[in-house]
Amino acid sequence: ENQYRIQGWGEPYFSINAAGHITVSPKGDRGGSLDLFDLVNALRQRNLGLPLLIRFSDILEHRIERLNASFAKAITRYNYAGGYRGVFPVKCNQQRHLLEDLVRFGKPYQFGLEAGSKPELMIALAMLDTPGALLICNGYKDREYIETAMLAQRLGQTPMIVLEQIEEVQLVIDASRALGIQPFLGVRAKLSSKGIGRWGDSSGDRAKFGLTIPEIIRVVEQLKEANMLESLQLLHYHIGSQISSISVIKDAILEASKIFVELAQLGANMKYLDVGGGLGVDYDGSQTNFHASKNYNLQNYASDIIAEVKEACDERGIPVPTLISESGRAIASHQSVLIFDVLSTSDVPTDPPTPAKEEEHLIIRNLWETFNNINVQNYQEAFYDATQFKEEALSRFKLGYLRITERARAEQLYWACCKKILDIAREQEYVPDDLEDLEKIMASIYYVNMSVFQSAPDSWAIDQLFPIMPLHRLDEEATQRGILADLTCDSDGKIDQFIDLRDVKPVLELHDLKPGEPYYLGLFLGGAYQEIMGNLHNLFGDTNAVHIKLTPKGYQIEHVVKGDTMAEVVSYVQYDAEDLVESMRQRTEQALLEKRITIQEAQRLLQNYEHSLGRYTYLSP
Ligand code: PLP
Repeated sequence: ENQYRIQGWGEPYFSINAAGHITVSPKGDRGGSLDLFDLVNALRQRNLGLPLLIRFSDILEHRIERLNASFAKAITRYNYAGGYRGVFPVKCNQQRHLLEDLVRFGKPYQFGLEAGSKPELMIALAMLDTPGALLICNGYKDREYIETAMLAQRLGQTPMIVLEQIEEVQLVIDASRALGIQPFLGVRAKLSSKGIGRWGDSSGDRAKFGLTIPEIIRVVEQLKEANMLESLQLLHYHIGSQISSISVIKDAILEASKIFVELAQLGANMKYLDVGGGLGVDYDGSQTNFHASKNYNLQNYASDIIAEVKEACDERGIPVPTLISESGRAIASHQSVLIFDVLSTSDVPTDPPTPAKEEEHLIIRNLWETFNNINVQNYQEAFYDATQFKEEALSRFKLGYLRITERARAEQLYWACCKKILDIAREQEYVPDDLEDLEKIMASIYYVNMSVFQSAPDSWAIDQLFPIMPLHRLDEEATQRGILADLTCDSDGKIDQFIDLRDVKPVLELHDLKPGEPYYLGLFLGGAYQEIMGNLHNLFGDTNAVHIKLTPKGYQIEHVVKGDTMAEVVSYVQYDAEDLVESMRQRTEQALLEKRITIQEAQRLLQNYEHSLGRYTYLSP
């Protein structure tokens, strides 16, 4: 259990049961659970192939509740006179079923949506029907974007147009005059407080979005001149996603609160303070400020924000604002689990070697001697020697001084040395730096039925860590150490960094494959950003997805969203499946004419071809 750290990242949703399977408790500590291994088997019986994305709508609901409950508690504790009205950033996961759930679950809290682009605005406007919920309009805007948002006010919606670029101010003033609508406006500030980690550049003077303090003053003057300062109600900032340190969050809110009160004193009608996203997810369960973790919980986050804003407002005698956060990752990550199977494995050969004979090449004899003498005292030095001898064998082979059979023997002895050294190193408390690569060198490759580019693009693009572990056999010792290689024919299509305590480990503890038995792995906490950022590399398409809801009797499959077929993915690159089949038919006719193929073979080929096009892009067992 400890090797996968499930208690750290999984609580309260994922744990291990007595059968050695993963249990999902979608309602957190409120009871009701499912055996994930059994669930996958049941879904497979319904013809749902792997890889399969399972979304648990109850987890989504629970996340929304927890976020709101944390702010409610902080508001009571600090006697805060304002409220909290969160919004979900649509960019994080735009899937319709998920957004429908989100809007529904958010109703009791007037939970709103944030759009970061024009297409997202289209979705948000049509989806959000909660009275009083906010629709935060971020991103680049043109006249049509601004007009559409303003006109939506007439439908009873509350679109907040957040000015992120100085050019938008005049567009807004013009649109407001033309339509005769007083819009709800916000400004996005570039804070000097820097985020940290991968998204740290989202703040600071050179950030892509937002206005500098002099620019904000210009906005105030421009709006005042246009007699529209009343419209300016909201201050927004976003210092980056996955903020792992609470001190960074505190620093940002401290600066933002000061800007807020200043804007109020300049005459703006300040009612809302929007702290953006950044609320982190503890991917490695270490509760530290490591980039895959965070050193605070939801309650610390809410409390620190409320306390800081209250203090800044009280100091100047200004009414406290309604607080908004745009938490995406923290809301959407936990609800989905990607399940995939292992197709095969490849191991380095580590059979015990036979002793070197007198007449064998000196390099082989040296390698044998090294192997024979490895012990706890010299294993580090032995690794160095074995590596040297192997490199020498390779260069001699290239120069034509070593036969291929001798090279094979040298490589085999080298692997045997590595295995013996690794076995000793694993027993030690401290592993010397130069031996760290040994785990990697000796790792088994587990070929998995998924595409990293489609299902975990951040793992490839920015080395993001996700917890990955088997769904079953967790009562058996995991004797293998492996890395995962995906279906794409791209050498980057692999996962070779796994969560560890405040660190990254190069291999994952896995089990031997048993003939005829499936081996299922789950990738957890990937519900934010991965689906939409996933791409069609090698034409592996969207995976199958199911929405599961807990019921008193077990579970209900709310929706099945079938993954792409091959005909669908080829159509994205402008091929028509029927044209392809026709082209193949003509080729077989030609081959038949020239007697290069029999009629039976031609039939078989065309049947396979046509059948494949209608099928899932991944492998079926
Ligand atoms: N708000 C804005 C403006 C963003 O750019 C983002 C994403 O980076 C978010 C909110 C969501 O951030 P997170 O997923 O860290 O909550």
